[in-house]
Amino acid sequence: MNGTQGSPQPSVELWFVAELRMFLAPANRAGMVRTATDGTSSLGHVVESAGVPLTEVGSLHVNDGPAGPSYQPRAGDVVRVEAVSRPQPLPAPMFLLDVHLGALARRMRLVGVDTAYSNDLSDDALIELANSAGRVLLTKDRGLLRRRKLWLGAYVHGARADEQLADVLDRFAPPLAPWTRCVACNGTLAQVTKGEVEAELLPGTRRTYEEFCRCAGCGRVYWRGAHSRRLAAIVATATRTSGGTRTSGGSRSGGTRSQGSRSQGTRSGHPGATG
Ligand SMILES: [Zn+2]
Repeated sequence: MNGTQGSPQPSVELWFVAELRMFLAPANRAGMVRTATDGTSSLGHVVESAGVPLTEVGSLHVNDGPAGPSYQPRAGDVVRVEAVSRPQPLPAPMFLLDVHLGALARRMRLVGVDTAYSNDLSDDALIELANSAGRVLLTKDRGLLRRRKLWLGAYVHGARADEQLADVLDRFAPPLAPWTRCVACNGTLAQVTKGEVEAELLPGTRRTYEEFCRCAGCGRVYWRGAHSRRLAAIVATATRTSGGTRTSGGSRSGGTRSQGSRSQGTRSGHPGATG
């Protein structure tokens, strides 16, 4: 009889709450992962090795006591892993979206959330830009969220842009200011008179619309129009689920109009004739 032969591998038991189980390997979706411990890896590393980005993790408990991600698990430890609490407080509600989330970027801008996006940034550039600008990096790429250099990131749930928007609003509850940002470039919109933009409009637009805004970033002209039922529905859903909008229109120095009186949202997000 060899006494060492049958001794159990020193292991740690991780229990994940339901919200985190989608990140686990299919065989572990019931929520429990048993993993060998080497005595030197951090708890954060062990959790990530199970497939769960630390950006998605809230509090950690080891044998019913609180623990941090730097704790080094010992054989026999039982760990409970909670999901990040919602809404998650942020230093500033500013975001950077990875290259696959262009449709979400447009929706976030539509409801007035400060959202940077470019479809040609490498992973390194994304991380650098998010860190330097103090923006939360939103992605569906778990590998990106595991990068040590990343300051603040979040996984975006949902396959469709509407689901993704609902997830982001639920997670961070950013203040909303619909129709105040350019969906194309994230610039802020300022009201302009018809006279200021008349020369740039197509005849049909000139005849039909009276209220215009111009993007301070790219110069696009926006008008209140009839093409916006779909966009208005997105805004209505977003403001309903987030508990209302911030009143931003009246305070801006450029004299943007009061958005509150336009809550039925007939304004077009349609880029103007200036392209
Ligand atoms: Zn713009």
